[in-house]
Amino acid sequence: MSRICVPVCARSLDEMRDAVERAAEAADLIELRLDCLDDVEAASRAVEVEDARSFGRPLILTLRSAEQGGHSSVDYEGRRRFWSSLKPPAADCLFDLEYDLVQDLSSAASLHPLDADWKQVICSHHDFKGVPPDLEKIYEAIAATPAGIIKIAVQANDAIDCLPIFNLLERARREHRELIAIAMGPAGIITRVLGPSRGSFLTYGALDDENATAPGQPTAKQLRDVYRIERLDSETEVMGIVGNPVNQSLSPVIHNAAFAAANINAVYLPFQAHDVTEFMRRMVHPKTREIVWNLRGLSVTIPHKSAVMPLLDWIDETAKEIGAVNTILVRDDQLLGYNTDASGLMTPLINRFGAIRDARCAVIGAGGAARAASWALINEGGMVELFARNLGRAAITAKDFGVPCHQLSGADFAGFDIVINTTPLGMFGAYQEVTPATTAQLLGVRLAYDLVYNPIETVFLRQARAAGCDILSGIEMLIAQGAEQFRLWTGQFPDANVMRTRALRSLVQ
Ligand code: NAP
Repeated sequence: MSRICVPVCARSLDEMRDAVERAAEAADLIELRLDCLDDVEAASRAVEVEDARSFGRPLILTLRSAEQGGHSSVDYEGRRRFWSSLKPPAADCLFDLEYDLVQDLSSAASLHPLDADWKQVICSHHDFKGVPPDLEKIYEAIAATPAGIIKIAVQANDAIDCLPIFNLLERARREHRELIAIAMGPAGIITRVLGPSRGSFLTYGALDDENATAPGQPTAKQLRDVYRIERLDSETEVMGIVGNPVNQSLSPVIHNAAFAAANINAVYLPFQAHDVTEFMRRMVHPKTREIVWNLRGLSVTIPHKSAVMPLLDWIDETAKEIGAVNTILVRDDQLLGYNTDASGLMTPLINRFGAIRDARCAVIGAGGAARAASWALINEGGMVELFARNLGRAAITAKDFGVPCHQLSGADFAGFDIVINTTPLGMFGAYQEVTPATTAQLLGVRLAYDLVYNPIETVFLRQARAAGCDILSGIEMLIAQGAEQFRLWTGQFPDANVMRTRALRSLVQ
């Protein structure tokens, strides 16, 4: 059974009261991070107040030391005094203490109120830099204390850093120990989602986006609504997106919504990987991976779409011709590679524009998406020309597809039927106010298609509309290429409307 604990970190008692009330809506347990209070002397009072209210949710009391990621400067003696003088709460309560305190207090004659039952004590260790090489030793040291629950949280800088955490969960299961094991940071999110289904005593979910108490902590609502954490078990099929970065990707939102709508026991996760070769070897390929799971497939995104190709057992002809794989299917002990970008790009384009045969198509950019666009447009009989900022780099793509290539700055698109932006210009963030082409440059063009989908209406599309062009947003490609991935993995067609609705809800409008 999955348990979501929502930590509450508030500076005053009033703020804590409000936050606990909100936390109770999404939490199975509520953690009072007493070290967040401006006045740590008020911690005992906070416990009394929340104990009296408690909302039927068990509480975890934590007064984290600064060295272990706490917010106050309360020293060792202060923490010891607090725990020793705490009035025993009436509500179901767990007490989260650092290893040094647990060792000290467990050897003392009496630890009021913890002497009542050490089973209620979580003995915790945090490492905010990485995965310590002596992780197993740390586990053994904590397991040797009388504390009933072991907690180990480390920083994941890459998806493969999650492997030692899954190993620890497996060990604790074998040894019948209660363990909370978490990898922090965006690369560790898979341990937060899959942990409970692999035996973790609980997982932490933030109150909201602004109130995460550890790096990479998703909200409790995301754990329930996006990842459907209560439904996950040892049978759950795992899919996900590998790239770097991946935390902005909308794919988890759309695929998980589609799994839920089709009532499929599957989850889709973000895998942040710097070195795709290591990731594929240690986590993906059935012959070499170091984790037992029902991995069914992967989406592949920037910068791994080409690098992943030599690591696969078979690649479909289209993906070979494009020179990029964006979809992997795990079949028995083989990895099969596909490219759904090309069909995902063309389906909405043909729906809107009609037949592409003899259409003059300008493709802005010369990277992976431009390659998929060029291949698909040529395949449909279109006449393609590339426009790029760096003709040296773009020459390779132009040569591979036998198309002309021009300098982007100062280009005139008059005479083109379709102009497609395949650069990140216009994307949420640093490029949001930038366009690869202005209204003046786009006069006379019939349709402008932006592969950027966040925001939905980019500056490029606004400029194109002002030039009288029909416009098409990249959201349609996102849904179409994702729907084809879903079909490859599950053999079923997803509900594309569900995917679109969830994507739109998550986007900057
Ligand atoms: P990529 O392989 O990195 O290629 C990016 C291209 O954009 C390169 O040609 C690059 O030129 C050019 N570029 C980057 N910054 C530029 C700038 N400031 N000015 C002019 N050109 C610039 O990336 P990709 O995989 O092709 O993806 C490109 C875009 O398409 C991304 O925004 C991605 O989100 C979007 N996309 C959307 C979907 C969808 O489903 N809607 C699917 C795939 C991709 P240089 O070679 O000179 O660096």
